Amino acid sequence: MTGSIDNSAAGGSPSPLANTYTRFPATLVRGEGCRVWDDKGREYLDFAAGIAVCSLGHCNPAVTEAITRQAKTLVHVSNLYWTLPQIEVARLLIEKSFADRVFFCNSGAEAVEGALKLARHYGHDRHGPDCYEVISLEGSFHGRTLATVAATGQTVYQCGFEPMPAGFLHVPINNIDALEMAASPRTAAILIEPIQGEGGVRPISDEYLSAAREICDRLDALLIFDEVQVGMGRTGTLFAYEQTPVVPDVVCLAKALGNGFPIGAMMAREEVMSHLPPGSHASTFGGNPVACAAAKVVLETLTSPGFLDEVMEKGHYMGKGLGSLAKRYPETVLEARGRGLIQAIEFRKPVPDLGNRLMDRGFLALLTQQKILRMVPPLIVTETEIDSLLAALEEIIPTYE
Ligand SMILES: *Cc1c(COP(=O)(O)O)cnc(C)c1O
Repeated sequence: MTGSIDNSAAGGSPSPLANTYTRFPATLVRGEGCRVWDDKGREYLDFAAGIAVCSLGHCNPAVTEAITRQAKTLVHVSNLYWTLPQIEVARLLIEKSFADRVFFCNSGAEAVEGALKLARHYGHDRHGPDCYEVISLEGSFHGRTLATVAATGQTVYQCGFEPMPAGFLHVPINNIDALEMAASPRTAAILIEPIQGEGGVRPISDEYLSAAREICDRLDALLIFDEVQVGMGRTGTLFAYEQTPVVPDVVCLAKALGNGFPIGAMMAREEVMSHLPPGSHASTFGGNPVACAAAKVVLETLTSPGFLDEVMEKGHYMGKGLGSLAKRYPETVLEARGRGLIQAIEFRKPVPDLGNRLMDRGFLALLTQQKILRMVPPLIVTETEIDSLLAALEEIIPTYE
């Protein structure tokens, strides 16, 4: 596909938009629950959910209600004043996690950027100016700002933007020896996605996470979990770290936190967060009242009795279905993997047209690395809806043999 769009509703050709995305040939105009519609009235079952964002479904009535109500009350004031929705969301996050302080921002990259700045300030305060290195993993994705691109362990995102900011080391995933080798008194933090999302739904092993925790404890460095994609109930627990043997020092959140209304958060215990003193970091829109009104409903819903148990069950159901497909087509499918409702099947060969072919059949799903189909449906997806995607895959997969 080229950057030109054959869709007049997208602004005609040439498109007035920066050509930074390879877009699907559709203009989406409306959403409800797990479904979206394009400008031609075609319906799609959404297993992309705005990239793991619309977890409570498109235009969730309670979220929309909260946004509307807040928009009639107070849309924005500076963070130089207190606002109630922000404090309420922070209290909910604290109540359900190891953390007791929250910094609000607007996006995933900004949450990770904040964590990186916290790590540098912590390193400098505790160990002096030579303690600034951040170790992250190959295949990781942490955002598109210069620092988060430098932390990202995929050269494709860095190419053409060099020189990268200094102080970022990358090590292969699940290789404890390599991590030990990279760690030193210069290490301010180890940054990990507990399951790599953009990297192709790759879980980091419990042993590796325990080793990272132990190294951080030994060096008095920060263990940062980037849960921008896998936090907020995606894996079947509110935070992905809850299913690992470790507790991190810092967690980054965004994507599903506002169910589509932009909001990010970075949280830590007070003895860590206090290393960002007044004036050291800020965000004009961060924790905006309207965004926090949305996030409050999201957190209340995710933590309501039984909600996450259902996510876990549906995740098992979907994983079993994909696993069975992988078993029946071993020549085409390398493996199925996932946790909760972040699931993937990896093909043996590139299947670059798979996204478009699924779209032709009325499904949205994401292809990463040309051969990994990543499925992150709204967490309210039903087993019937999962079945219909499995049926479509059952028809498509044999055509790649
Ligand atoms: C999407 C993502 C980011 C970046 O989030 P933006 O809101 O696009 O800035 C960072 N880390 C992870 C793990 C992500 O999946």
